[in-house]
Amino acid sequence: MILETNTPIQQLNFDLFKQKQIEVFMKRDDLIHPFISGNKWRKLKFILDDAMAKNKKHLISFGGAYSNHLNALACAGATFGFKTTGFVRGEEISNHMIELNKLWGMELIFVDRTSYKNKQELFNTVFGDNEHAYFIDEGGAGDLGAKGCEEIVYELNEPFDKIFCPVGTSTTLQGITQAIQKKKLPTIAEGICVLKGAQEIDENLKRLNLQYLYKIHYRFHEGGYAKTTIELLDFIKMFSSHTGILLDQIYTGKMMKAVFELAEENYFSANSKIMCVHTGGLMGLLSIQSNK
Ligand SMILES: *Cc1c(COP(=O)(O)O)cnc(C)c1O
Repeated sequence: MILETNTPIQQLNFDLFKQKQIEVFMKRDDLIHPFISGNKWRKLKFILDDAMAKNKKHLISFGGAYSNHLNALACAGATFGFKTTGFVRGEEISNHMIELNKLWGMELIFVDRTSYKNKQELFNTVFGDNEHAYFIDEGGAGDLGAKGCEEIVYELNEPFDKIFCPVGTSTTLQGITQAIQKKKLPTIAEGICVLKGAQEIDENLKRLNLQYLYKIHYRFHEGGYAKTTIELLDFIKMFSSHTGILLDQIYTGKMMKAVFELAEENYFSANSKIMCVHTGGLMGLLSIQSNK
């Protein structure tokens, strides 16, 4: 499965970074595709290859009613010739993401929050005897997803001291960290956790024994998953109006606000080169509520 991924790298010119004598760049994975965007394509790439190799024609996955993953999967399925079904957590509703998923022909099955917890069981109940059905975990999480995210690092043509990304399932951070290890780079992967009290996220990475190559920051969630603050929305406006680059309020906005705050706190030593991965997800902006 191929979408061009060698996305541009753009330097972010802010006075703060000049003052702190650091260079900050952004890898524009938001430009991979308008809908199969950012890390969602990175994660789907090898998953779709695997489904194809196993002759599976029907992709089944899971997500919330605003899931970037289901949106990317619905569009990717239509693009590459797979049937798709999304199990959606919660009561049946309509919103812009749900309606787009339907346009791409995704079948949607709304399930209550308790049943949603056991995804494998949902899959087995509905698709157990469908030989074409292929299970994809929520968010494209898992080792195949991480393998796709390794390529973010392989596309960089110079070493960076730190590579930042937002953390939901931590699959993206896993891929970046694995690539740093495989290429023996002098780089630390730094994740900004967008969920509150999600310290167990570390368990995914701990099993891989990569402790020295990554760090997760847990204090930049702005109130929790999909929660926003006025400060975050103001930050996004400041950033977007200065660079032309949009950030969403769920993932990339929190990551960049954290990088600015860390710079203010002198977290980075002088002459550091910092890469921030724009993981896409800009459809999330359609739910933004501005107070101004
Ligand atoms: C899903 C998503 C993430 C979370 O990535 P994980 O690999 O689950 O940690 C980050 N950024 C955006 C824009 C996303 O849509």
